[in-house]
Amino acid sequence: MRALRVDRPHSVALTEEPAPGPGSDELLVRPRAVGLCGTDLELIDGAVDPAYVRYPLVLGHEWSGVLADGTAVVGEGIVPCRACAACERGATNLCATYDELGFTRPGAAADELAVPARLVHRLAPGVDLAEAALVEPMAVVLRGLRRAAPEPGLRALVVGDGTIGLLAAHLLRLWSPAEIRVLGRRPEQAGLVAAAGADRFVLDAEEAGGGYDLVVEAAGAPEAVRTALGAAGRGGRVLLLGLAGTGRTAALPIDDTVNGDLTVLGSFAYTSEVWREAVHLLNTGEVAPGFVITHRFPLAEARRALAVLRGCNGPRGKVLLTLP
Ligand SMILES: [Zn+2]
Ligand SMILES: [Zn+2]
Repeated sequence: MRALRVDRPHSVALTEEPAPGPGSDELLVRPRAVGLCGTDLELIDGAVDPAYVRYPLVLGHEWSGVLADGTAVVGEGIVPCRACAACERGATNLCATYDELGFTRPGAAADELAVPARLVHRLAPGVDLAEAALVEPMAVVLRGLRRAAPEPGLRALVVGDGTIGLLAAHLLRLWSPAEIRVLGRRPEQAGLVAAAGADRFVLDAEEAGGGYDLVVEAAGAPEAVRTALGAAGRGGRVLLLGLAGTGRTAALPIDDTVNGDLTVLGSFAYTSEVWREAVHLLNTGEVAPGFVITHRFPLAEARRALAVLRGCNGPRGKVLLTLP
């Protein structure tokens, strides 16, 4: 089978390799859509914290696919051990043994994928398989928002106009906020921001203003983190969802954080519980994240897909690889 493989940092190629023989507790999936994201670029660039990666690897942690009998499915990427203290209290994202498809075990950018059966979720009839590949980033955002516990009527600012920022604006609507603004960098994203359901799109921090009840940082850059901290109102929450690359730091305005009574939250990945919720939201049609997909390439053109992900003109949301 074909697989999009990173042998070591800076060495990525579509290769031929033996198909996986599924273990007794695993299902064999034929991936149909695989989302690429900034983390995949960081894996290629060797910028991911070494504790969360094992080379060589096959990319692909955001996917949908079909089982041998034609059932359409998605699957959690994190493989929790189910025995450690974190797993026992439901914090499967913090499992003592970190193990994730596309990071420490083969991912879905391949013709076949073996997945532990307990991590596979069925899609409702009629759910679009391309849209379903967005369950993973949706679950990441949803877990962060759950942690930030937005209250109805809040004012929220999303810093970042990429896929995670767009999905954050979209999912925030579930909490009936009074206002959602998105602070971005690329004017070309305006249409996507509107499709996400945000009330306003601004391109500079001055215009974004301050006093927000919740600021979601989804850009993954030190400057964006400083902006996010500065935009929170007293008693506000700042949710950090963006990864900036291992070792990168941002200055923390100490007095403003203390005087502002701020809560600064990081959120890592998703729990199994939140994943179920994300699948449910998609299966019932309560959310329709498909608007975020702007580019699709067959697996054979993975190189072009990665180039678009690194930078392109025009609107850019999720870049997908598609498989027959
Ligand atoms: Zn991702
Ligand atoms: Zn565990």
